[in-house]
Amino acid sequence: MAGDPAGRPPAVDPAVEPAADSAVDEAAAPAPRRARAAIPEHAWETAVKLVGAAREVHLVCHVSPDGDALGSALAAGLALRSLGVDAFVSFGDDPQVVPASLSFLPGQDLLIPAAEVPDAPELVVVFDVASEHRLGLLCDKALAARELIVIDHHSSNNGFGSCRLIDPAAPATAVLADELLRRLGVPLTHDIAVCLYTGVATDTGSFKYTATTPATHELAARLLATGIRQDLISRQLWDTASFGYLKVLAAALERARLEPEAAGGRGLVWTVVPHADRERHGVAMDEVEGLIDVVRKAAEAEVALVLKEGEDGSFYGSSRAKGAVDLGAVCAGLGGGGHAYAAGFTSYDDAATTVERFRTLLENELRD
Ligand code: 5GP
Ligand code: MN
Repeated sequence: MAGDPAGRPPAVDPAVEPAADSAVDEAAAPAPRRARAAIPEHAWETAVKLVGAAREVHLVCHVSPDGDALGSALAAGLALRSLGVDAFVSFGDDPQVVPASLSFLPGQDLLIPAAEVPDAPELVVVFDVASEHRLGLLCDKALAARELIVIDHHSSNNGFGSCRLIDPAAPATAVLADELLRRLGVPLTHDIAVCLYTGVATDTGSFKYTATTPATHELAARLLATGIRQDLISRQLWDTASFGYLKVLAAALERARLEPEAAGGRGLVWTVVPHADRERHGVAMDEVEGLIDVVRKAAEAEVALVLKEGEDGSFYGSSRAKGAVDLGAVCAGLGGGGHAYAAGFTSYDDAATTVERFRTLLENELRD
């Protein structure tokens, strides 16, 4: 392999090197090999008690929700409704728009706008939220809740909330949501399974990433046994896009830059998606979420970065690494956060300045 005549970097034979996945990080330690569960038993017991005693529960995920965040919250909403609890689902965007790729998720009748969430709710459960600012408009209300349960798998989770179910080794928040529902004794329905499967499939890159364990596949098997159509879910999540998206993608790839010397010589590939491109082709911000997965294919780069310009001229940065660098720490330096292998931030600088800051943080991270 090393002497590839095409001059390509040596490919890794996955049969020989199973750990050399494209998404390795400290959050990806295989769960079965851990000596101790990350979430103490008493935390689960407290969560079950709090949910069992509540009359009204508000289930909240992060702004611009992905399949894991919204899937987990909707699964819990459907489950609590089946127990007779008044459950509502919300996220702090205004307007509150469900991404087109997630429009098939059941339980959306439980969604209420952030403004309709009470100022001091009885019980709020947040899903896939690493820090309170990711709650957007619901930040203050969640922090004012009598009890705040935080269910998350980000290694960068900052410790907010009164009851914390945090497992950085969990491949998806949906895995933890499933555990809570099982402890609550909720029967697994088809609709709950669609939501949970969407969460697990999203965050494991369709069961590809290192954090995927035998237990993850066992969960998938339980979910599939309810009769869900994983082929249709997968097509919606990954294989469906507007023609306009293809044009925006083409332009973004055309302007992509490869900097082999960046990231301590491991390479950085980056591009920008200007607001004007999206406007010309009628493409919403959530539709370009998967663009990073194309850019990060570049074998010459350890790190990939896509800067997506919002209507207000700010840039939302999505970054991915292959295991040599902790992007959660790099993006924290830009006011964001996430996992070691996948992290994000928002920048109010111009694109060139933002990339320069990212590049510098990357070098510092590799030096430490
Ligand atoms: P994506 O690029 O898919 O939007 O985000 C990658 C990962 O980073 C996701 O797990 C997401 O939750 C996390 N993330 C993205 N932006 C932020 C941010 O501003 N703060 C924190 N703490 N995490 C973020
Ligand atoms: Mn997640």
